[in-house]
Order: sequence, then C-alpha cells, then structure tokens
Amino acid sequence: MYLTFQGHDCRYAAEQMLLTLFPEERPQYAGGPVPPEADHAFLRLTQDGERLTAEAQVRWQGRSAAGEADAPVPPEDDPLVRDRVRQRVLKLAFYRAGTALLGREPPWGALTGVRPVKIPTKAMERGLSPAQAEAELTGTYRVSPGRAALAMDCAKASLAAKRSLAPDEVSLYIGIPFCPTRCAYCSFVSADVGRALKLVPAFLDVLTQEVDWTAEELRRAGCSVRSIYVGGGTPTTLSAPQLDRLLGRVGEKFDLSRCTEYTVEAGRPDTITAEKLAVLRRHGAQRVSVNPQTMRDSVLAAMGRAHTAADILRSYELVRAAGIPCVNMDLIAGLPQDDPEGFQSSLDQVLALGPENITVHTLAMKKGSRLMGGGAGHGPVLPTAEDVDQMLSYAWSALRAHGQTPYYLYRQKYMSGSFENVGWSLPGWESLYNICMMEELHPILSLGGGGITKLIDPRTGHIDRISNPKYPHEYVNSLEKLRAGKRQAADFLLAIQQGR
Ligand code: SF4
Repeated sequence: MYLTFQGHDCRYAAEQMLLTLFPEERPQYAGGPVPPEADHAFLRLTQDGERLTAEAQVRWQGRSAAGEADAPVPPEDDPLVRDRVRQRVLKLAFYRAGTALLGREPPWGALTGVRPVKIPTKAMERGLSPAQAEAELTGTYRVSPGRAALAMDCAKASLAAKRSLAPDEVSLYIGIPFCPTRCAYCSFVSADVGRALKLVPAFLDVLTQEVDWTAEELRRAGCSVRSIYVGGGTPTTLSAPQLDRLLGRVGEKFDLSRCTEYTVEAGRPDTITAEKLAVLRRHGAQRVSVNPQTMRDSVLAAMGRAHTAADILRSYELVRAAGIPCVNMDLIAGLPQDDPEGFQSSLDQVLALGPENITVHTLAMKKGSRLMGGGAGHGPVLPTAEDVDQMLSYAWSALRAHGQTPYYLYRQKYMSGSFENVGWSLPGWESLYNICMMEELHPILSLGGGGITKLIDPRTGHIDRISNPKYPHEYVNSLEKLRAGKRQAADFLLAIQQGR
C-alpha cells in the first residue's frame, strides 16, 4: 500500500498501523504521483489554534474510507510528548479509516506497540481511577474488553512492583545462548547447535570475567542486586559442574543480601537432572521454568524438541523434589499441527500439576526461524486466527478458575492474529524480574549472550541500551566491548544516584 503524508513525516507510526490493519501489505513510497487505482493511505496533519487534527483517506481493494482524530496541541518545549501526540492522532485517524474498510477491529484496537500495559499504568499514575484507565483503553484505543481486562490486571501488578523498588536497586540478566537442539520457531540460538556447544567452556571463561567486572562496577555505582534471571537459550544445557562454577561466581562476587528473586530457566525437560537442580537450589535459585510449550507428542516432535510430554511430567517432579518453591511453565497457542482441543488438553494437564506461574505465548513467526524459512506456500499448517482466539479464550477462563491472574504481557511483531504473550501467576508469586523487564521499571544489567542492558533515567523515562553479542563465537571475542559496556552502565547509574 502506498503511504503519502502532508504536514508530517511520521513514517514509523504509519507503518506500524499499516502492519496492524493490513498485515499482508508492505509500505510503498511513490517518487511522484500515486497510481490512481492503487491501494493508498494519505495521512494529513494540521494545527488550528489549540487543536492538532489528523485526517486519513484510505483506498483499499477499490473502496475508500476516511478517518479523523484530534488532540490539544502538545507543549513545544517537550519534543518527546509532541512526537507521541502527533503519532497518536495519526494512528487513530488511520485506524478509523482502515477499520471502516475492513469491517472489523483487531483485538488490541489501535494499539500497535509491544507494551500496551504502559498506557493504563501511566493513566493511573496521572491520577485516573482504574475504571477510567480501562475506559480509555476500550474507548479511545478501541481495545476489546477481554484485552483491556488483561492489561488492567497487569497495570495493577506493575504499579505494585514499582512501589516495592528502591532507587539504588538493579536486576541482573545472565544469558546462556545454548540449547541441546533448535526448535522450529526459534530465531535465537545458532542454527548449528553442535558447533555452538563446543564453545561452552570458552563462553564460561568470558562470562565469569563479565560477572567479576559487573560486580565491581555495581559496587562503584553504589547499587544492589534486587533480582537475578538466568535465561537463554536453555541455561540447564550447561552441565552441573558448569552451572556450579557460574552460579558460585555470582554468589561470591555480588552482594545478594537484598536479592529477593532468583530465577533459572530450565526450559527444556531434556536438560533437567536432579544433580543440576541441586546445584541451583544450593546457590539460592527459588524459581525455575519447565517449558512444555505443548503436551502433545506429535507437535513436540514437529517442533524439533527432543522430548515427550512424559519427560515434562518427570522433570516437574524432579524440580519439586529438589525443593524449588516456584515453578513457571510456558505454553504456546498456535503451534503448527495443534488445534483448540490439543491446546486445551495441554493447558489442563499443566494446570493439574499446580505450577505457581503459567505463561501463555502466542506463536510468533520470527525471521531466521525454520518456520519462516519455508517460504510462501511451503510453510507448515498453522491453526487459524479464530482457532488461536479460541485457545486463548479457553486459557483465560481456565487460568482464572484456578486462581491465576495475569501480571505481565507483551506483544511481538509477526504474532499470530495480533495477539499477545501473557504471564499468569497465583497471588504473591508474580515474577518481579518479568514485570521490571517488560514495563521498564528499573535498570537491568545484562551479562552473557544476547541480553540488552537497559539503563532507565527515572526523571525522564529515557532508556539507554547496550547490547551483548548474541552468538557464542561473537561473545567470546568481545572482552573489551563487554568491559566497556559495564563501565558505561556504572557511570550512568552513578550519575543517577548523584542526581546529575
Ligand atoms: S528452547 Fe528456546 S532458545 Fe532453545 S531452541 Fe527452543 S525456542 Fe530456541
């Protein structure tokens, strides 16, 4: 679809809305006049006294519709707010025209971002009541009542988490980018799993150095660790002695006296052993993820997972026997060869185990994954958006019936049917790290492969990001970069502590 603008150049906002409304379309920019019969969205922004007005005229498949939105003119001296308001009215005008043509609205309405929960959270921080914040979601942004209810529960959890944080606290993420085999929907771990695994010893040598530098720099900045999350990949791909070495170093170098949460993803049941769990427990991990994704053996096999549903049950028992108090289990709605009955049965089996957290993902078709690699017409048979909707509706009612409440959520590009990933929890078992990471509540320092350090300025909300190399072969050759990144993070934290 051609995109043309007048009075602005907000390409990003226009392209995001195009993807939301017409996911099969790609943005096109004409050097001259747009061909008369072509699909086309024209977006104009004007300012008249106190009001900023956006108008959209959209032509699609031979039909046309118009939409309009306006807002008070934002203050000139705050460019961030000004940009946000301009983008918001443009997206809303485009949304109104587009949905008039489509005759339906997406589940998240006019919201295009990854973090929809920030909207009601900020509304409540501005003094709106929960009912008013929810009305803003359903009224202004046209979010469906079901999604608005999810977002409101998560917003309340976010506000509670924020109140519990002290200004000198940070969280640590430690990324272990190894897995025993590669799942079909994965774009994260290296395609050549075997070659990557040979790099584990060298990777650990560098990671232990990064642990030392990070601890040293945090002491210089006067900050404490509030939560630790060891993710991946699958951290339990490491052997028990390797895990012992890594977690031992973390415990030795960091002051963990204020750390209230320590999570290790054990994701794949084919990596979980009693010996490794004993190591995790000894070093203080209280939360472990065991991720079935599905309890259907045929779907697991099609995904390249070298384990069965029976292995998941055995792993769960091992985790409980090791005395781990909090277990998370991930499921995915929309996997190839799955259907609503299969998903429901998977969820029922997981609920019967009684984990404290269940995360329900929706399949995202990621670039670089084997699923995306099939090419047009050669990909796997996926459940329809209606099937995925049915799976999620079942999940909402079944999880609530078992006392679970949504506490964090996020959306991704290429997500099946424009849905979401939602973390559910029994009361009091919410993961602080997950909330802090997703809602960007406080600084997160990332070590290891693939993590992104996020340095949040609490006064402006501005975030500086420092990426760690994603692949092991890049990571082991990045000593200087890693050291410089941690120095930069500490300088930032120090400046914040000193009010500079
Ligand atoms: S377990 Fe996760 S990180 Fe590992 S291959 Fe599968 S999807 Fe990728």
